[in-house]
Amino acid sequence: MNTFTVDTLSKAIRKSRPMTLTALFLRMGSLYPVLRPEFLKLVDAASSVASPSEYLYQSLRPLADKIPPHLRAVFWAGEKFVPNRLSDALIRSAIDNLLTPYFLLKDEKSFWKTKKRFEREGAGIILDVVGEEALFTSEAENYLASYEYAMKTFGGKVAVKLSSLVPSISFNPSNCKENKRILKEKFAEILLLAQKYNVSITLDAEEYFKWCLLIEDVFCETVLEDRFRKMSNVGVALQAYRKDSFASAKRLLAVAKTRRYPLTVRVVKGAYWDTEFAIAEQNGWEYPLFERKEETDANFDRIISFFLQNREHIYLAAATQNPKNIAHALKEVDGDFTNFEFQVLFGLGEAVRRTLCRLKIPVSVYCPLVRQGGSILDALAYLVRRILENTAGNSCLLENL
Ligand SMILES: Cc1cc2nc3c(=O)[nH]c(=O)nc-3n(C[C@H](O)[C@H](O)[C@H](O)COP(=O)(O)OP(=O)(O)OC[C@H]3O[C@@H](n4cnc5c(N)ncnc54)[C@H](O)[C@@H]3O)c2cc1C
Repeated sequence: MNTFTVDTLSKAIRKSRPMTLTALFLRMGSLYPVLRPEFLKLVDAASSVASPSEYLYQSLRPLADKIPPHLRAVFWAGEKFVPNRLSDALIRSAIDNLLTPYFLLKDEKSFWKTKKRFEREGAGIILDVVGEEALFTSEAENYLASYEYAMKTFGGKVAVKLSSLVPSISFNPSNCKENKRILKEKFAEILLLAQKYNVSITLDAEEYFKWCLLIEDVFCETVLEDRFRKMSNVGVALQAYRKDSFASAKRLLAVAKTRRYPLTVRVVKGAYWDTEFAIAEQNGWEYPLFERKEETDANFDRIISFFLQNREHIYLAAATQNPKNIAHALKEVDGDFTNFEFQVLFGLGEAVRRTLCRLKIPVSVYCPLVRQGGSILDALAYLVRRILENTAGNSCLLENL
């Protein structure tokens, strides 16, 4: 392939699609939107209810006239002829053995196996210790220990969720200064560990109202401290669906220039679109995000172009699975991959990863790993976010399944 048009890329990506039952399941969720929330509830409830199949049939009954006849017949036959014990085992096994491993790595063994395979094919790996906002001190302490364990054991590049390192209950919404102080302390601990184990750290971008701008402040102020100023293996994710994200892009560049040592920025679109709108609506706040997907897509391209013009200051990761955005970045990169790479999500980005590896274009895969001593329950929020995203009608990801 000489030129990277959207069409040629899309074709190449489609050819590289892995054929899996999980992909089929996600397709079904997008083809039949009425089933989407029911699938999500089932994934959420399967580990806690006595009979997931009974739970599923019960939740589908009131929707009977909205479900297409052929699917209704399948569910009806399942309920009538397949013993519940067997259906339960099938549902649980499908979640544990097909759905979960499609989206994340369940243990260290699968991590090492996957890392070896990706590296053999030319892709890097970013380790994400699966976790969300910590509620209590003990939870936050466990997450910090998990990050240290991950840095020591796996090395390389590690993604960090700042919200998992501070207990929510210690947060006082009216005392921003104190919240920032606590977060800066935690981030400094992470950076000291990163120095000790020589790993790269990128802070994930999180929910807008509670975390987003606070994380940006914490990041910008901490990396300017003398003890961290020379670290160039430190970065942050920036969500292009935020209306104010271009201003943040300019701020990050200014910080990198002031430090005189580069920073990494992972440009993403943003994974909390549905939640943010619900929160804004409930509170009567102005929407902080673009409301049309095309606006997010265009803003993503704009930020990518901006950082590519400043490659001596910013190591750029374009994190997307969308062939249109990939084609745009490739055009701007113009064959020079210095300080640039693509990043994709484990599982969902597999077709893109394979295509980019074949074309010898730098790519890393963001791999969520269930933390040591943790359980698959820690990963539920991650799973639900990914399923929501992948069954949304306007997602490019469906084409890659
Ligand atoms: C390596 C990697 C790391 C990531 N890290 C983070 C992170 O730290 N924080 C985070 O929040 N996300 C993160 N994500 C997820 C990312 O934000 C996207 O959700 C995901 O990559 C899908 O985007 P896409 O370009 O591949 O797909 P596309 O299908 O092209 O885009 C889907 C995205 O478009 C946006 N969108 C959808 N509908 C609308 C609408 N009506 N109006 C405006 N915008 C809309 C949403 O952001 C949605 O996720 C990461 C993704 C990758 C690949």
